[in-house]
Amino acid sequence: MGDTIFGKIIRREIPADIVYEDDDVLAFRDLNPQAPVHVLFVPKRAIATLDAATTSDSELLGKLLLATAAYARREGLAEQGYRTVINCNEHGGQTVFHLHVHLLGGRQMHWPPG
Ligand code: AMP
Repeated sequence: MGDTIFGKIIRREIPADIVYEDDDVLAFRDLNPQAPVHVLFVPKRAIATLDAATTSDSELLGKLLLATAAYARREGLAEQGYRTVINCNEHGGQTVFHLHVHLLGGRQMHWPPG
């Protein structure tokens, strides 16, 4: 797969407001926030889409979700709640083809989404 803007952020080639990092996962604030807290969690090893993930990615995907949940808990979002979103391909609204989890919190979310 080709490189993306998130690959450049992971390699520190372009700036981002990084809020969390471990060996496998990087998290930074979305440039165009849709909620008071809007953070993107990305695996450092790129997977283009959720559809492209395979069983060999199971551990990494688990780490990605658990890192997201732990951050939300640390930031005090868990009790009131938050939303996580993974957009996949065109109808999902995916624009950056490096799998990422959107963490949205700090306001009431509504369902169904638009
Ligand atoms: P998606 O549409 O699910 O692929 O989400 C891509 C997200 O990346 C959007 O919410 C954008 O606002 C966000 N985004 C794009 N470029 C950057 C960037 N350089 N730094 C932070 N967030 C970005």
